[in-house]
Amino acid sequence: MPELPPAAPPIATWEQRWHPLREEWVLFTAHRGGRPWIGEMKRPDTGPVPPYDPTCALCPGNARLAGTNPAYTGVHWFTNDLPCFGADAPQSATDDDLYLRRPATGTAEVVCYHPDHSRTMAGLKAAEVRAVVDLWSERTSVLAARPEVAQVLIFENKGSAVGTSNPHPHCQIYAGGLVYAHFAREVESGRRHHARTGDYLGQAILARELAGPRVIAANAGFVACVPWFARYAYEVFVLPRRQMSSLIELSGDERQGLAEMLREVAIRYDNLWRMPMPYVMAVHQAPCDGGDYRTFPFHVEFHPPLRTPDTLKYLAGPEVGGGSMTNESDPDEKAAELRAAAGPHHAARGEAR
Ligand SMILES: [Zn+2]
Repeated sequence: MPELPPAAPPIATWEQRWHPLREEWVLFTAHRGGRPWIGEMKRPDTGPVPPYDPTCALCPGNARLAGTNPAYTGVHWFTNDLPCFGADAPQSATDDDLYLRRPATGTAEVVCYHPDHSRTMAGLKAAEVRAVVDLWSERTSVLAARPEVAQVLIFENKGSAVGTSNPHPHCQIYAGGLVYAHFAREVESGRRHHARTGDYLGQAILARELAGPRVIAANAGFVACVPWFARYAYEVFVLPRRQMSSLIELSGDERQGLAEMLREVAIRYDNLWRMPMPYVMAVHQAPCDGGDYRTFPFHVEFHPPLRTPDTLKYLAGPEVGGGSMTNESDPDEKAAELRAAAGPHHAARGEAR
């Protein structure tokens, strides 16, 4: 690794920061974060969750739209009953050179992290999260080898604030003939940075985060931080300590390291306000359409939509209308809050785990 760059100066009032992965500006308005709020408050998901729910489509032994779940005992995957990509997508042609179309060929899978309906990533043991990461790596290898698959997108939507009403711990895998937009952008930004500097973009970001005050946890393989250019208040990136472009490249030790960091982030999120933290998590890995992606910056992103326990970050005029993100917080301060929210999980304190 090259010498660490100097630490970035603290945030200024009225500041824009360059997002080097997306190659776009983020507007920071930390001085407006405490402005009065008279809009809708988000009620957190705090009710008790049973370990088994007879109405849950993901619990072991329960009926789904198509078929019945086996009595699985660990991590378990199945093909989504209503996939957004289909093996039998009709071949459609178009003779319009502007209104292009193509078949949505591929598959979509659901991964149940654990048979226990009440667990979350934060409530799993380290070995159980490792089993999830191992399965992600296996499914990535299998799906990436299919000729119709251009991208394996692994993501978790957690909590009703991001539209998931079922608390059963699970994620989804989309694998079709589509390179998702953020990944296409990261392909280009990674290539451009390497051509310009000879360095890998992911490693350049890591070096800057290691030199700054925003690291919240780290181990031999991975570092978790609130990035300097965070788009959401409590956004966390999990960055590998060496250049890699996909899950397939992780060693056994690195899969273990990634699992520990993911669990660490999830526990700190829940500890922050002693409530289940909603988030969207996405594994950023290179496309698998035969291109050269050696410079792609593999990492995992967590995007929690809450700014406070009961205030959502709404995407409105600047974000939806204008297409650029506004962050009302200082990433240095948010990282300090997450650093102070170390484990064990608040619900498990006093218990041996
Ligand atoms: Zn369930």
